[in-house]
Amino acid sequence: MNYNKSIAAFTEAQKSIPGGVNSPVRSFRNVGGNPLFIAKASGSKITDIDGNEFIDYVGSWGPMILGHTHPAVVEAIQKTAALGASFGAPTLLETEMAELIKELVPSVASVRMVNSGTEATMSALRLARGYTGRDLVIKFEGCYHGHNDSFLIAAGSGALTYGIPDTPGVTKGTARDTLTAQFNDLASVEQLFEKHKNEIAAVILEPVTGNMGVIIPEKEFMEGIRKLCTEAKTVLIFDEVMTGFRLSKGGAQEILGITPDLTTFGKIIGGGLPVGAYGGKQEIMDQLAPKGPVYQAGTLSGNPLAMAAGLTTLRLLKNTENFYQKLEEKSALLEEGLRNNLNELGFDGVINRVGSMFTLFFTKEKNVKSFADVMKSDTRLFTNYFKLSLDSGIYLAPSQYEAGFVSAAHSIEDIEKTVKASYMALKTIKN
Ligand SMILES: *Cc1c(COP(=O)(O)O)cnc(C)c1O
Repeated sequence: MNYNKSIAAFTEAQKSIPGGVNSPVRSFRNVGGNPLFIAKASGSKITDIDGNEFIDYVGSWGPMILGHTHPAVVEAIQKTAALGASFGAPTLLETEMAELIKELVPSVASVRMVNSGTEATMSALRLARGYTGRDLVIKFEGCYHGHNDSFLIAAGSGALTYGIPDTPGVTKGTARDTLTAQFNDLASVEQLFEKHKNEIAAVILEPVTGNMGVIIPEKEFMEGIRKLCTEAKTVLIFDEVMTGFRLSKGGAQEILGITPDLTTFGKIIGGGLPVGAYGGKQEIMDQLAPKGPVYQAGTLSGNPLAMAAGLTTLRLLKNTENFYQKLEEKSALLEEGLRNNLNELGFDGVINRVGSMFTLFFTKEKNVKSFADVMKSDTRLFTNYFKLSLDSGIYLAPSQYEAGFVSAAHSIEDIEKTVKASYMALKTIKN
């Protein structure tokens, strides 16, 4: 494939945008390549400015569960835009959105819209602190919750890939209030609770991780955290920005059978437009201004275009028969094909998958259950695999520490083509 136009575009972009990108994970820096500049997308395919077409497993990093440019979503955005892009006053769409989220996610009694996942987790943490009157938060190594100061500590993919677990610019004071524990290691959480009794405002985690690659939580780990939080009156926050409406209608909490106190959303609820939300127990949400004392605001929050795109997406997820079952079947087919390839060609690897979220870790480990396991992956092998996949028309996230996403628009033919391309890539690496 020829990437000449993207290469020229990246050179040009670097003259006026830091690093040439508006989010570091887009840069391909870790795989030693040049990011592709995208011209358009449709269904399961994206097309770059050189005219190359790829089967897309990034899906805008999660939101595009229906595939790109779903006609109903496009129409909703166009129709709403014609009525006005923003008013700074309530609209009916916002109540419809809140009611639909409540219906799909029963742990949410009340929900506030914001403009990104970052804003959602930042606001949820402030609310948890305001509600409990405590300062400390526990997060897990490798979990990413957006680029808030409080969470940029041992923080997942972007930070992992680029080696800035503690970014410059976060004050020592802020860093001191964030405690880190190990995913799937309940003892590491118990120790923090013992040491900081009655000081912990919140525990936040990705209930199924995506930002260090997909890791599945163990039952005792999740149940243990829920119990610790309940006993200590600590607010349990599930960051479902990625998993919400992705793993099931009710998100990870539905499939795990664990009820958090607060949940953060993003990605899919915006249908591709910038949206975030946080919601949960009534008595906690009642602390928010104007009803309560905890301040949080947003000029463009609940933006009509974003609400229209998100509502249309959520309604399609809700009303399409067997939506998640079909996604599961296609994703299982992909997993099976990839695993057969590894076995047949003698590669060591672990494929972690929950529904339409998956990661192929190149590793000699038998399981990948923790951040420490993730870090044993062979990133050089991944880089080769990534480049060869791209050259054969498969667009994967440019990092070993990411989740891939299957959308409703991926066809069986797409999956078969992907498995074949993966086989060829592995075969080339082997030779
Ligand atoms: C993407 C993501 C965020 C951040 O969302 P932005 O919209 O990029 O700010 C937070 N938490 C999780 C789990 C995410 O996957």
